Amino acid sequence: MASPTTFFTRLLARKGRPLLIAGPCSAETEAQTLATARGVQALGNIDLFRAGVWKPRTRPGSFEGAGAAALPWLQRVTQETSLPVAIEVATPRHVEEALAHGIQVLWIGARTTANPFAVQELADALAGTGVPVMVKNPVNPDVSLWAGALERLARAGITDVAAIHRGFSTFAPSKYRNPPTWMLAIELKTRFPHIPLICDPSHMAGRRDLLLPIAQKALDLDYDGLMIETHPDPDHALSDAEQQVTPVRLGEILSELKYRRRSS
Ligand code: PEP
Ligand code: MN
Repeated sequence: MASPTTFFTRLLARKGRPLLIAGPCSAETEAQTLATARGVQALGNIDLFRAGVWKPRTRPGSFEGAGAAALPWLQRVTQETSLPVAIEVATPRHVEEALAHGIQVLWIGARTTANPFAVQELADALAGTGVPVMVKNPVNPDVSLWAGALERLARAGITDVAAIHRGFSTFAPSKYRNPPTWMLAIELKTRFPHIPLICDPSHMAGRRDLLLPIAQKALDLDYDGLMIETHPDPDHALSDAEQQVTPVRLGEILSELKYRRRSS
């Protein structure tokens, strides 16, 4: 079967290089969201703005995102910068609210991918919407769960998809927050060769100093894109403070990367 032309494959063909996705872990305020967007747009090579609106926090009492109130801020991001915006959705209500506010790309987060009931509900809610969807790997190192989520979407007729590799949780001591365990993503790519594979060094690393080597490794493995969390004042971010970088630092990281010639 011919591979479908999708939002992601069209963008990849147009750019002729891996896709670059940047933006804050969480949209915290309108000012912080727009400052980040202006900063990443100034880099000149960012293709998609990311932000968390409903945040899946491990423990209650942490910042759980600004919720639907952040959606108009993201509409302003697109109005001001022309960048399309991607957010995480975890329930059919999130999908409905995001689409009602014209959000252009959605993603399924690692905790949600681990739950087939939740994935199925999302597949049903996304069916027929035409919105591109990115699927993060599940938190646990189970490539079949990741594949299963892509299959549930495919069965619902959703083929405008990309996969995001954000590393897998481990009990073993590690310098990584979520060790990449590259072979699992390579296995997914072997099973779904036409689905673009994007690396999320931020959630793998959990710390700024590892972003560059992880991103370089992903490029060396011919990944189709990078998603890196970016905040105007990372140390004071309300979520994932240790792994976020300023737009200026992101620009430095991106310019230090060595890009291979694309194989396709
Ligand atoms: C995020 O992208 O901010 C996030 C919550 O990621 P993950 O689902 O990979 O933990
Ligand atoms: Mn985050």
